[in-house]
Amino acid sequence: MISNNPNFDNHERVLFINDAPTGLKAIIAIHSTTLGAAVGGIRIWPYDNDADALDDVLKLSRGMTLKTAIADLPLGGGKSVIIADPKIHKTPQLLHAFGRAINDLGGSYIGGEDVGMTVADVVEMQKVTKFVAGSSQGENASGDPSLQTAHGVYLGIQAAVAQRFGRDGVAGLSVGVQGLGNVGMRLARQLHANGARLVVADLDAAHIEEAVREFGAEVVEPVAIHGADLDVFAPCAMGGILNAASISEMKAKVVAGSANNQLQDFTDGQRLKRAGILYAPDYVINGGGVINVAGEALSKYDPAAINAKVRNIPRILNQIFERAHRRNLTPGEVADQMAMERLEPLARSA
Ligand code: NAD
Repeated sequence: MISNNPNFDNHERVLFINDAPTGLKAIIAIHSTTLGAAVGGIRIWPYDNDADALDDVLKLSRGMTLKTAIADLPLGGGKSVIIADPKIHKTPQLLHAFGRAINDLGGSYIGGEDVGMTVADVVEMQKVTKFVAGSSQGENASGDPSLQTAHGVYLGIQAAVAQRFGRDGVAGLSVGVQGLGNVGMRLARQLHANGARLVVADLDAAHIEEAVREFGAEVVEPVAIHGADLDVFAPCAMGGILNAASISEMKAKVVAGSANNQLQDFTDGQRLKRAGILYAPDYVINGGGVINVAGEALSKYDPAAINAKVRNIPRILNQIFERAHRRNLTPGEVADQMAMERLEPLARSA
């Protein structure tokens, strides 16, 4: 039974898709539509097995519910995964088959970019479905969400640095960026422009070369970056990077990055707190992307309103840090409480 999965958490719907003609294998998870249609990116990743894909999509879609709630958006949380290697298997036929599967949900799920999925892929899917956002085409096109994600993370790092080190800005601080993709590279650019010293790691040699050339970044191995001599660690690759082993090796006193599901489990939040490491909850600091996509999903893309909401991310983080300190909780526990404070009254009245 899927409800026995520890990550199930009362999902409203979980749809498994097998499309023999195109070879599409995918899962769409809708965690909550309490606040509105479930929005969440489409991750295309060559999972080792179906169980890993299911765990990932369930965790990610729950995170989207909390993310839209804390960002005060009239949207719910969902996510989807396509089990495939985007570099090999991502064809227009595969994307169309997935678009048709989204149509079957009648608008209760709206997909968009995530790892392995680009703006051009969203445009391709729009040929068969209207339930995608993050496009470069159409009246309310919102484009690549990673620009706002990176900006929100940069502002969030400033808030965390002010809280933990009592410093204004990142100049002179050593910041480790793990993953120099759509978000990580843009974040690195903002950090470099504002005087941070960069330490970087990526699996892709071309991304590393770009960071060395553009920012004079120091390069470390992907498996070692969490333990490097850093002030701030910014995970911008995959989830689960914060765990008992990695936390015991960390020298950074701030963790603030874009990756979803950074904590392997909630006890890792307590582990960080005990180690004196300030953690900016992932779904709060990386909310810029969904804030941007929401403009398109809700058919009213308003750049000024979006910028104002992204600029509010450090304010929300400050509230979280302050409440965590006052109540002796972890920032993650407080973020969950704040998201539930928005969700629960609506869930009860539904
Ligand atoms: P991306 O696929 O563009 O970039 C990921 C980068 O990480 C790639 O360069 C990849 O080579 C690298 N990488 C993968 N595994 C690694 C490892 N073990 N060590 C070092 N590098 C590794 O993805 P993205 O859009 O930049 O997203 C990055 C993270 O941020 C993901 O967890 C994503 O879910 C999250 N996120 C992204 C957005 C967005 O707007 N794109 C919004 C919210 C959250």
